[in-house]
Amino acid sequence: MSIYWERCSICGRHRPTRQCWLHPERIICPYCCLACPERSICPRPAWFPTLRHVQPAAKPQPKLEEARRALEELLRKLEGG
Ligand SMILES: [Zn+2]
Repeated sequence: MSIYWERCSICGRHRPTRQCWLHPERIICPYCCLACPERSICPRPAWFPTLRHVQPAAKPQPKLEEARRALEELLRKLEGG
């Protein structure tokens, strides 16, 4: 898909644009594409398709870790009598 520097069909500004997948008659800039309410149902957003289902990277959860440590400590105490 080519990138053109044209007038965005949505905001009317001259920006890099691509053709909208859902509405081929429109050309959209990245900003309007990201802000598009139909983005969640768009099978192929013209801009940043990989950002469609952004999820925070899995991080160790400090609270869970803390709880696990507390439990282990408790078990040790019980085992130790
Ligand atoms: Zn725009």
